[in-house]
Amino acid sequence: MTIYTGPVFDMARTQFGIIADHLEIPHDERDRLLYPKRAIAVSVPVHMDDGSTKVFQGYRVQHHLTLGPTKGGTRFSSKLDVGEVAALAVWMSWKCALAGLPYGGAKGGVACDPPSLSRRELEVVSRRYMQEMIPFVSPQTDVMAPDMGTDEQVMAWFMDTYSMHQGHAVSEIVTGKPVALGGTEGRREATGRGVAHLVNRACESIGLRPGDSTAIVQGFGNVGSVSAYTLARRYGVRIIGISDHTTALYDPAGLKLDDIERHVSRHGVLAGFTREASIGGAELLEQRCDILVPAALERVITAENAPRLNCRILAEGANGPTTPDADAVLEQRRDEIFVIPDILCNSGGVIVSYFEWVQDLQRLFWTETEVNSRLEQLLDGAFEKVRFRAAERAVSNRTAAMAIGVEQVRAGKRLRGLFP
Ligand code: NAD
Repeated sequence: MTIYTGPVFDMARTQFGIIADHLEIPHDERDRLLYPKRAIAVSVPVHMDDGSTKVFQGYRVQHHLTLGPTKGGTRFSSKLDVGEVAALAVWMSWKCALAGLPYGGAKGGVACDPPSLSRRELEVVSRRYMQEMIPFVSPQTDVMAPDMGTDEQVMAWFMDTYSMHQGHAVSEIVTGKPVALGGTEGRREATGRGVAHLVNRACESIGLRPGDSTAIVQGFGNVGSVSAYTLARRYGVRIIGISDHTTALYDPAGLKLDDIERHVSRHGVLAGFTREASIGGAELLEQRCDILVPAALERVITAENAPRLNCRILAEGANGPTTPDADAVLEQRRDEIFVIPDILCNSGGVIVSYFEWVQDLQRLFWTETEVNSRLEQLLDGAFEKVRFRAAERAVSNRTAAMAIGVEQVRAGKRLRGLFP
């Protein structure tokens, strides 16, 4: 029996099993690598605006503390459960190890629906959640960041709640804060910027000119929108499809990103922009394009639609967008589709979060140019490692990336012993 159940954790477990077989890890070592060190579940009671009291469930899963503190985002989403949080924590561990960051993985969140909460209710949920987590987090044990449904403001409330408890400002307790509170330049854009940078590297690898290429992006939140803007404005890619939870737009002649940006900053969602270019969300993923960027949810590329993907590069901006069954299909299509696996593709976010933590600890802040150039340096290092290993062992980019991450964590655990 385990508390880690559900389709997302099953997916993380299956992926790990494939890598453990590939690395020939003895069976009695596998559970220690896969199962989280600890999981915390809390109740978050809130006085709602209508006078009622509601109790939300909150979680934090810390996967391993072998190489340093744990690090990971906080997700506010109505369907959140501990299995999903644990899977995301496990993926964070492989991601941090691949990028060479001194962290284990963590993830947390509250099962709530942010759009249905008033600003006051959102603040109370955020503060109470952090209050309940205070015994289990610190800049040396677990550092939170934003994820789906949370943003800089939520990080500011977390930081304030923790700091009030300590009696002084502790900016290094969270990353993804506003710059005015010790956040770093470039964090908000880091994940999408990293996605676009790695897409450009992938284009070089397969001989595709970004300026002659088209892209479709699923999800128009932090990661999706910045990926689309950067691909278009920095690399000259034509964006022909985008979607969010309200609608999907597709125009092979290219979408007007500047107008879309204005619309979204005013209305918060894509719905209402135009009816002319609308298309089904699932259908959008299968349209012909050079670059496909799933940047919203888990498990959207499945064994069912993987044979019909019509792209040259699959850049996984989201965490876990591709199921292991779909991966088996993509493995067969390795010569047609270049996969940039999630733990590499979206690692720009945690890399710049690491820079933020380092700057806060040192009270010494960098310019945005410095942040971006160091980000590209670490991304290039990880990309080269993955490409080298994939070529040397004749394995997929995902297998190569995960194997590097798992090996790193395993080496740390072997050296330290059973405790961390
Ligand atoms: P966000 O909340 O800012 O945006 C999520 C977007 O997905 C929204 O535009 C939403 O409308 C859209 N969406 C939801 N359901 C959809 C559907 N059915 N079809 C199409 N779009 C849908 O979240 P985010 O921070 O951009 O995170 C997106 C993904 O990237 C998540 O998997 C997250 O774990 C991952 N990620 C985020 C970061 C980061 O720095 N924010 C870093 C690494 C990975």
